Amino acid sequence: MGYNWADNHVGKTFAAQTKGDETAVNQDNLRGLPAISALLECPQAQELIDRHGRGPALAALRSAVDELRSEITAGREAPKDMTASAMARAQEIAEGISRDALRPVINATGVIIHTNLGRSVLAEQAIQAVVRACRSYNNLEADLEQGRRSSRHVHVEQRLQSVIGAQAGAVFNNNAAAIMLALAALAAGREVIISRGQLIEIGGSFRMPEVIEQSGCILREVGATNRTHLRDYEAAINENTAAILLAHPSNYRIIGFTSEPETAHIAELAHGHGLPLLDDLGSGCLVDMQALGVGKEPTPQDSLGAGADIVTFSGDKLLGGPQCGIAVGRPELIDRMKKHPLARAVRVGKMTIAALDATLRILGDPQQAIESIPTLRAATEPLETVVQRAGAIAEGITRSAAPGASACVVTDRSARTGGGSLAEHGLETAAVRVVPPPSLSLGEVARRLRTGEPAVYSRTADDALVLDARTVLPHEVENLIAATRAALTVATPTI
Ligand SMILES: *Cc1c(COP(=O)(O)O)cnc(C)c1O
Repeated sequence: MGYNWADNHVGKTFAAQTKGDETAVNQDNLRGLPAISALLECPQAQELIDRHGRGPALAALRSAVDELRSEITAGREAPKDMTASAMARAQEIAEGISRDALRPVINATGVIIHTNLGRSVLAEQAIQAVVRACRSYNNLEADLEQGRRSSRHVHVEQRLQSVIGAQAGAVFNNNAAAIMLALAALAAGREVIISRGQLIEIGGSFRMPEVIEQSGCILREVGATNRTHLRDYEAAINENTAAILLAHPSNYRIIGFTSEPETAHIAELAHGHGLPLLDDLGSGCLVDMQALGVGKEPTPQDSLGAGADIVTFSGDKLLGGPQCGIAVGRPELIDRMKKHPLARAVRVGKMTIAALDATLRILGDPQQAIESIPTLRAATEPLETVVQRAGAIAEGITRSAAPGASACVVTDRSARTGGGSLAEHGLETAAVRVVPPPSLSLGEVARRLRTGEPAVYSRTADDALVLDARTVLPHEVENLIAATRAALTVATPTI
């Protein structure tokens, strides 16, 4: 037997809190609330259970009745058919319960590496590798040959050696973790020299001065905001110096009267004093973006070649893989990082290793990389292809757009790689400029797009909605058209 909460519990409690006639009306209405047991007898309840499972269906029914009860006790008018109303709400609630926490979003912002939208979309090979790694047990920390325990670091290290030409490498939770670990393992309690022009903040909580201090190191800043010379580094070196740190000013540029010494010269200086040079590259692109006409983004290969001893970078920026932070460089230093107690706190799981391994494998062949890694494909796709995709989107929207709405293709340089990479570089792109009918505000259309299924993230500019085709994946075009048409429909009721 179900338990009628309304009759037995809450009705009395709330009746004691309200007064006069209202109390009588509320009491009556509360008595009209359907019992869960009664709702379960309805055919729709069975559908709900079949669709979502018994647990979620029951939870949804309870929440629906709870909602109704609160509205009645708050003095709002009770629906005529409480059972139908409870059922309808339960359906909505159950949809919400069954929905994935992470919902697909069509990225029409033109920002390729969009941290709020999950950064890089994985290559199909990487996705399949994750699925395989999760379907069964695997050799994450097992040496199958010897039947002994092994290290989870070995899998990706070999790949990093072959793709980057690094002597050693290790992977941690993200680049922030890799930098903190490098500092904690190699320089704790001692001074770390960094140029004032590189005391960067990368959004929110990652600020270089604080990272250095939180790693237990003493910040020793040198030079000026716009100009730092080799002699500034040299003058700061003393018996308590542990390392020199370079940080790639990912998301901003100092232009004009500026200078920083070349990495090779700083490396030479560091090594002359027996110090390691650490280089936080930020994005860490493995393919030569300049050769592809996109712009200059330093590679870990360049940095190692110039003499850096440890280079760190993200896995999910221009590398195009899963969230992680990669450190490559001298074996004895990488080894100290792996053995530091913090390493355990920031280690990666099997899904990350599987995805990164597959991504690095693709990166072994740059041509294949720009074809199959979505981040690289989006960054290097020829403008004609983007224009074609924008054209298809615009045509689909106009085919039966709401009266008064319009869509046309515009080209400009407004797309961005994002994620702090190639900061000053606007990528040429084609976008669909959508003007909503007069009865709909831009804000309302954008809201409908964000809350639809699939969700769409767009930009607004000059009283129009801008759908940038560079970041729209080819298989998303039809869904984007349908979502935009629905968002432009005047008759859609807004609740
Ligand atoms: C993005 C970035 C980081 C942080 O990397 P996460 O992988 O997000 O932790 C650190 N340094 C630089 C220069 C960056 O661009």
